[in-house]
Amino acid sequence: AAECERYEERTPESAAMAEDLRELVPAGVCSTFRAYDPYPVHAARAEGGSIYDVDGNEYLDFALNNGTQLVGHTHPTLEEAAVDQIERGTLYTRPTDLIEFAARPLIDRWDAIEQVRFTNSGTESIMHATRLARAYTGREKIIRMEGAYHGAHDPALVSKMPPLEQAGPERDPRPVRESRGVPDSVPEDILLAQYNDAESVERLLRDHGAEVAAVLVEPACLNLGLVEPEDGFLERLRELADEYNVVLIFDEVKTGVKLAPGGGAEYYGVQPDLVALAKAIGGGYPVGAFGGRREIMDCIAADLNEGVATGAAHYGTYNGNPLALRAVGVTLREILTEDAYDHVTTLADRLADGYRDVIADTGLEATVKSVGSQGMVHFTDEPIRTFRDWGHVDEEFHEAYWFGMVNRGVIPHPHDASQQWTVSVQHTAEEIDAHVDAFADLATHLTA
Ligand code: PLP
Repeated sequence: AAECERYEERTPESAAMAEDLRELVPAGVCSTFRAYDPYPVHAARAEGGSIYDVDGNEYLDFALNNGTQLVGHTHPTLEEAAVDQIERGTLYTRPTDLIEFAARPLIDRWDAIEQVRFTNSGTESIMHATRLARAYTGREKIIRMEGAYHGAHDPALVSKMPPLEQAGPERDPRPVRESRGVPDSVPEDILLAQYNDAESVERLLRDHGAEVAAVLVEPACLNLGLVEPEDGFLERLRELADEYNVVLIFDEVKTGVKLAPGGGAEYYGVQPDLVALAKAIGGGYPVGAFGGRREIMDCIAADLNEGVATGAAHYGTYNGNPLALRAVGVTLREILTEDAYDHVTTLADRLADGYRDVIADTGLEATVKSVGSQGMVHFTDEPIRTFRDWGHVDEEFHEAYWFGMVNRGVIPHPHDASQQWTVSVQHTAEEIDAHVDAFADLATHLTA
């Protein structure tokens, strides 16, 4: 195994802050994913394609807040709009013309989205989309792919990355609760299939079709590094959903407005019934959305029309707050233009090609993947098609890569082999080349 460089010498302020913060908040962080050994680099500020730590180090930032900031940090157009909005008020809990400003570009980008509701996070979007599917079908079970992350609510914490010794056989995976506090009953409504294996979904529908409300899937798995759907997989899910009258939900929290303007649905040419969104749609402001076919979304309006709660509930004080809506509208209408997509795709291809050249030159065992603005490197030659292939990935080696890159002034992606890089509209060709140069330098050490 490659020796893992650490960054203690360059980051004493981060170390001290981590120690202080652990007294105040569990593990010193506000989302458990952010805690890792020895401690996370603590941020002081961010701008454009870079982030700066409390010790004054600059990093080219390709983690971009779990890929949220396709627009980069502090985009001037977004900043100006946000300041203007702050002066007009950040919360009204009343409808405004900003709803149309934010909703229209989502409806325009996804054929599947005829109506949309706003939330505050990806977790909420998935939670509401699955509840809505249950309300619409009158059924309770959800088919999900083993090893997929769909948020932090109770059902999403079942089999997101289960230990294989608890997960049962590949053909009949057992739901594993990955947090204490998730009630025993929660896995009862989850049926697990394997990504890229439409037959595994078909088997579940044959056996339990009458009880299934929805098939929930990411069009490309972006919490297994980057696993794309094989030809015919999403198309087959579409057919099966129609055959069994179940709702096909795409979790486009990470793929939405990133793989293409209209997300994975556009990129792979398959439209679901419901789409869950968050992250990049808001350019770094906390917002999510879920939308889809009018007939299904109407179940939300029924709540009101009937005068009693007969429909699917969707409430929230901060839903559709004017600051978030302004951010969505400005991001989608003014920043993520056709030119912006050309820019990020060209640079992301350049980055992936640079990695491939370094790997060819050094003989590292690695596979580079790239789709739209996103990409990553798996340190294995074996194909990764499903969660069960994850064992091929050399996570220890990946950790050495990640720390080595951070020490060379590049945060390649969030700290975890399961994540991927994002190239932002503010990154430049020079910054891509600097990223590749850092990898080339590191690769000679990793293979030495
Ligand atoms: N779905 C996917 C595919 C995600 O990657 C995430 C977060 O990383 C979520 C849902 C949850 O989103 P949030 O963290 O905004 O709640």
